[in-house]
Amino acid sequence: MGIAGCLLGGCKSAPMTGRKQLLLLPESQEIAMGQQEFGQILQEEPISQDQRLSAMVHRVGTRLAAVAGKPNYQWDFRLLQSETPNAFCLPGGKVAVYDGILPVCQTEAGLAVVMSHEISHAIARHGGERMSQKMGVNAVQTALDYTFSGTSGATQGLVRSAYGAASQYGVILPYSRKHESEADLMGIQLMARAGYDPSEAPRFWSRFGQIAASSSQKPPEWLSTHPSDQRRSTDLAAALPNADMIYQTTPARYGMGEAIL
Ligand SMILES: [Zn+2]
Repeated sequence: MGIAGCLLGGCKSAPMTGRKQLLLLPESQEIAMGQQEFGQILQEEPISQDQRLSAMVHRVGTRLAAVAGKPNYQWDFRLLQSETPNAFCLPGGKVAVYDGILPVCQTEAGLAVVMSHEISHAIARHGGERMSQKMGVNAVQTALDYTFSGTSGATQGLVRSAYGAASQYGVILPYSRKHESEADLMGIQLMARAGYDPSEAPRFWSRFGQIAASSSQKPPEWLSTHPSDQRRSTDLAAALPNADMIYQTTPARYGMGEAIL
């Protein structure tokens, strides 16, 4: 971790676990970068024309956002057209779901598993942590230049890479197992608070594991960086009783929600 981590007051604790994090950029900076990158992604990638499913992504997202405790986020939920089974959330609450992941989701609750997981990566600032770890102090100045001067060659895709978005932008930094478990545990509680049946989380991951095992395609975040879907499914099953208690006391419960297909 080192002293550099404290230069900008960068040592923070992760939500839930209290784990120490190295964060060189202030959150406001990450949010500005996320906003800028998201605008660009929406210009480059086709948006789904399916109104029902786009509305579903928006509905699930809005319910998750309502219990996410991030009043400084400007949420945006989009369904993009791509066969790649992927999803991501950039800092500031910019969420994209690729429609290639919907068959695995099966229902609104399955979609809530995916979206709550990605939103948790953003809330826990895992991407900010990865940028800080991989790029060091120089990245701070580069990032500041970037935000004030628009795009710069050196930082093109920095946020995308750190948050698992848009594979064509070169290196995707894999989330560590620690980040994955945090996002899983935060995610299952988030979906329960939003009113979706959390028992879908371990089921989703075992379905996803089967697809990952039979696929030769390795997109970012959802296949290559989620290595042991069986184990995570087991971990989530262990976290289920607690999440279910949250779910049972949530005033508005939607169960599995609407079916996708
Ligand atoms: Zn993840």
